[in-house]
Amino acid sequence: FVIPDFQDFIKDIEEMYWSAKSNTDGKVASYIPQLARASSESWGVSICTIDGQRFSIGDVNVPFTLQSCSKPLTYAMALETLGPDVVHKYVGTEPSGRNFNELVLDYNMKPHNPMINAGAILVCSLLKSLDKPEMTLAEKFDYVMSFFSRLAGNEVLGFNNAVFLSEREAADRNYALGFYMREHKCYPEKTNLRECMDFYFQCCSMEANCDIMSIMAATLANGGICPITDEKVLRPDSVRNVLSLMHSCGMYDYSGQFAFKVGLPAKSGVSGAMLIVVPNVMGICTWSPPLDPLGNSCRGLQFCDELIARFNFHKYDNI
Ligand code: GLN
Repeated sequence: FVIPDFQDFIKDIEEMYWSAKSNTDGKVASYIPQLARASSESWGVSICTIDGQRFSIGDVNVPFTLQSCSKPLTYAMALETLGPDVVHKYVGTEPSGRNFNELVLDYNMKPHNPMINAGAILVCSLLKSLDKPEMTLAEKFDYVMSFFSRLAGNEVLGFNNAVFLSEREAADRNYALGFYMREHKCYPEKTNLRECMDFYFQCCSMEANCDIMSIMAATLANGGICPITDEKVLRPDSVRNVLSLMHSCGMYDYSGQFAFKVGLPAKSGVSGAMLIVVPNVMGICTWSPPLDPLGNSCRGLQFCDELIARFNFHKYDNI
């Protein structure tokens, strides 16, 4: 086993869980009513190692919407189906140093990276127009959902239609990004912008829980082979690209500090979820809705700080 004394390890995780539970910092996202209603008490942590050892504590079965945690997943799917050369003809690999939804493109008039809204909207257009372009939006939705599900060991994902409808209504900035990129001819030729935006909101509105998301993180930790089903879902080069950009761009405007302090690839979302990958060891998902001013889950960040204080998981430990 990659973690020889799992029972001992769990004791540490439990202590870290309870210590973060008493953290009452942060505010639940309020830009749509469905997220504003989330309980600030909710707190769950799930772990899945690359050899399939599992541990969960807290609110690990409560569904939440993926939101920005869908960005590494759609990016992974685009890499897998289209290859990195095609994907990176359209989207960069540089941290933007700006807000996740800032109305800005890079020097080549491409979105900076796939982990911010502009880049993720663009990746959705690639999945829609370049990979199996004959599919309808409905077929494409099923296709993407079943790909996500394979990353999660065939667990079934949900879809929150109320969140989807609200996202679409409260999306002035995302539409502005969508049109700005069309003005600069960022999309593949056949792109229908309305469909592309809907597809992006649908990906944000898919639902999972900590248990399910920890398996996805574990598939990324395991070079693309799901530790539960042993299915090879992603090529190693796709995984490397996803983890690289999660490492440099996954935590909004805190990405640089997070890479410095925690040194692990991670991605947070506005629902309070966080995917954390310890390469070659395990995947972790934490979920707690209260966010700090930069948009990261307060309890999730505290958990990561403590994880690194107790274990040598930082990329540059052991040198
Ligand atoms: N639906 C949100 C948006 O596009 C997702 C962003 C996030 O999780 N930060 O604005």
